[in-house]
Formats: sequence, structure tokens, C-alpha cells
Amino acid sequence: MKHTKILILFLLFFFHIGISAQDRDRPREGEGIYAFLRRNDRVAKNDYNRFLELNKGKFGKNNSLKMGVYYTLPPKDKDASVSTSKEKPEKQKNNTPSKNQSGIKRKNPLFGKKYENYTVSSDRLKGACFFLSSGHGGPDPGAIGKVDGKTLHEDEYAYDITLRLARRLSEEGATVYMIIQDAKDGIRDDKYLSNSNRETCMGKAIPLNQKARLKQRSDKINSLNKSSKEKYKRAVFIHLDSRSKKHQLDVFFYHAKNSASGKKLANTMKNTFRDQYKKHQPNRGFTGTVSTRGLYVLEKTVPVGLFAELGNIQNTFDQRRFLDPDNRQALANWMCRGFIKDYEDYKKLNRK
Ligand SMILES: [Zn+2]
Repeated sequence: MKHTKILILFLLFFFHIGISAQDRDRPREGEGIYAFLRRNDRVAKNDYNRFLELNKGKFGKNNSLKMGVYYTLPPKDKDASVSTSKEKPEKQKNNTPSKNQSGIKRKNPLFGKKYENYTVSSDRLKGACFFLSSGHGGPDPGAIGKVDGKTLHEDEYAYDITLRLARRLSEEGATVYMIIQDAKDGIRDDKYLSNSNRETCMGKAIPLNQKARLKQRSDKINSLNKSSKEKYKRAVFIHLDSRSKKHQLDVFFYHAKNSASGKKLANTMKNTFRDQYKKHQPNRGFTGTVSTRGLYVLEKTVPVGLFAELGNIQNTFDQRRFLDPDNRQALANWMCRGFIKDYEDYKKLNRK
């Protein structure tokens, strides 16, 4: 009897070690929360916030991870039951078609080897369609910044953020078109993104002439717009622009003149960013603006358009923001939140 008790204690001890070894991990060099969670396969919607809760007091500045510290990971099984409180996708396929696509596994090679597989985790953007166009590309690098002796091209960073946004929107059930594409560069967790002129407009070479370049992507969006059946469609243009080296510019959202829906979307986006900054970087302050601007792509494309300038790639402060892949992910996540809000508002309005 005594031996049995000891054996049980012994087993419990090892069982406990087994569990904690799974539930905790130390960050690797340069890893932020998103990268850390992704490496540990915690990609459910609420994992980030749960992780913050679980590890209160263990973070550095701006919720950075400290080297050598063990962080508790949110439980995995729970995630599944939270984010897919619905049937298993395989079952749905065989039964009468369900409106719910939540839980379905999808693949998009554009996201790169590490991120090409994803799971549709909600239907919040079901019925919404996005045409995502990252700025510049091909022979045009956009604005150029210099940091640590490296030359940074706007188009590479804009593309990475756009890919991350595309993946997030897809996870929420949206239909997403990547207008500018790079067959080789997926989502990259690097600080310094290597430069290339490989980008195409959905397979077609991008011309160098600015007018021809903008016309090409606008025409592409308009033809896809015609063939897609969704009622809610948005064209999104993502830039990290540079106006002056000195100014820290924060975030600018532009909409087409006379587009009430565009203005509404831009304001929703700005407010979402303001709230997220307040939550994650309360000391930073936020100076985002919304305005109209006679931009070719906004004027020529048919779907409601949003043109976002997410910062200034020549400004040292903003550069730091773009170099960190977690920050690029955060920008994509916040835009996704903004779109969810805008789509919810749209559905409310059109229900009546
Ligand atoms: Zn630009």
C-alpha cells in the first residue's frame, strides 16, 4: 500500500513535468509575442490576449518578451472549443451545406511555406470581398530608407504587411485577392526584408511608368470587381510612405472624394488604430488622420477604396516599428479589426 502511494506520487510528479513542459516555453532571440505564439502553434483569435493575462508582470517595455524567462502558453484544447464552437468542417462537407465555414483548413502558397496553411476561424467576414494592393513593386521600390547600413524598400514592407492582412481576413472568412504578388516572398519574420523586383500584378509584369503602373492595378481590380458576387467589396491600398525624414507621421487614411462609404471606412479604421494604440502603447500618443486625396487608384477603382499610409520608412522611429515582424503583424491585425467593424456596421445598415 505504501509503495502504491509512492508510485502514484511519483507518476503525478512526472505527469506534472510533462504538462508544464508543454505549456511553457522561453522566447528565442529576437522573438516577440506573435512570433513566439506562432512557433508554439497558438494561433487562435484570443491567444494573444490570453497570453498577456497569463503572464502579467513578466513582460518588458511595450509587452516585449524577456530572454530566459519561461512564459505560460494558453491551453490549446480550449482554443479549439472557443474558436470552433461549431461542427467539424469535414462533417459539414458531406451533410447539407452549412453556412458555417468556420474550422475549414485552407492553403495559400503566397503566404510562404511557414504560413501557407491556415484555418478559417470565424465567419465574421463571410460575404465580404477585399482587393488588396500593396504599394509600388516590380521595378518600383517606392520610398527608400536606410538603417544599420541596410537599404530598406517600401514595397517589401508594404507587401509583407499586406500578406499578413490577407491571411487575417481569410481566417475571418473573407474572399481576398492579392493584386500585387511575389511568387517567392511569403510572409517573412525577418527584420531586414531583402529587396527584389519580382512582384507582378497577378502574374503580369509591372510597368515602370507610374501612370501605366497605377492603371494596370486599377483595371485589374475593376475587372475582378465585375466578376465577384459579394455585395460588400473594398479595395485597399497599402503604403509606408515617406514625406520628410524628420516627421514621425503615424497613420494616414485616405478615401475618394464623395465616397460616403469610403469616408466611413477610413474613420472606422482610424478609430480602431487609436483604440489599439491606447491599449498597447498608452504613452505613445496617436496622430492618425482621415482625409480625401485625389489619388489615381482611389479615383479610378469602382469598389469603395481605402488608401493607408502606415508610417514613414525614412523616419527612425517608424523604421523600428516596421523592422519588427510582430509590429507588422499588429498593423495587419488592427486593419482586420477595422474591416470587421466596418462590415458589421454595413450589415446593420442594410438589414433595414
Ligand atoms: Zn508609397
